[in-house]
Amino acid sequence: MSEINTVLGPISPDALGVTLPHEHVVAGYAGFDYDPYSRPYNLDKMVQICQRALEPAKGYGLNSLVDATPMDLNRDVDLLKAVSEKMQINIVCATGRYTEDMGKWTYLKQRARSKIGDMQTELYESFMYDITQGIGKTGVKAGVIKVATGFDCISACEGAMLRAAARASKETGLPIITHTENGTMGPEQVELLVAEGVNPKSIMIGHMCGNPSMQYQLAVLNKGVNISFDRFGIEVFQPDKVRLANLIGLLGIGYTDKIMISQDFIACGFGRGGVLPEEERQKVANWSFINIFRNILPALKQAGVTDEQIKTIMVDNPRRLLSGV
Ligand SMILES: [Zn+2]
Repeated sequence: MSEINTVLGPISPDALGVTLPHEHVVAGYAGFDYDPYSRPYNLDKMVQICQRALEPAKGYGLNSLVDATPMDLNRDVDLLKAVSEKMQINIVCATGRYTEDMGKWTYLKQRARSKIGDMQTELYESFMYDITQGIGKTGVKAGVIKVATGFDCISACEGAMLRAAARASKETGLPIITHTENGTMGPEQVELLVAEGVNPKSIMIGHMCGNPSMQYQLAVLNKGVNISFDRFGIEVFQPDKVRLANLIGLLGIGYTDKIMISQDFIACGFGRGGVLPEEERQKVANWSFINIFRNILPALKQAGVTDEQIKTIMVDNPRRLLSGV
């Protein structure tokens, strides 16, 4: 069993404990830095915001989380280190990139277009640097590779990203976790990654709860990969009751060893912030780091899911995924 890279250094897989495999301590969409009204960067204040968001979850036993922020959503390793130290929560950070639509692709596109650089090779090199040398000058090594595809299609850039991630995963043993858009392209992501030679056990297809079709779930699960129901609380996309019904069904037919749950919560966003319209606000009323602990796990228990199954989902599956066994 290999050690797991966290922002504070490598740890034994047994030290992970209860783990949320897809959250965001911090994230920012491209362009926020051109907004003159964006909140100024203040590390101490941001640590305090993250602390307020994480403390209740720690009270429920949260011990580790994966910060799934890819490099082009303003991943901030210094902040992650400060939060991890302050909260005594293990944080595994990611290398990897976001969708072509919402990430930062211009530099790589320009290099590819003028035939100076090969996009897939340069993506691979950047992932490997983060994993083996460390991110920027922080020395912090990524513990997962995050990839993303857009709605209903894998673009050429995203295909290059997936292939680069596959090569990096095969060489380092690091798992690949994914973003899927609105419940599409899960099966296609798996097909591509497995065809590139990635071990299915090292793959977690994300945002699977965005699609309520059991056929869709099984098309992915039957390829031997892990999936995550990781947007509990974002009812703008899908009601939690629908996610729960699907989850309970899948647990009931024998997929306990392959499923993880999380919330895709963002503790601290870059930019100016703002207030959602009332109707939207109601649909994210439960969105936080504790929705799973306060609402989802009790609902699972009520449906007959055992404590042992919950331990498998919350502790064993993330440990197996992150440690590559
Ligand atoms: Zn996410």
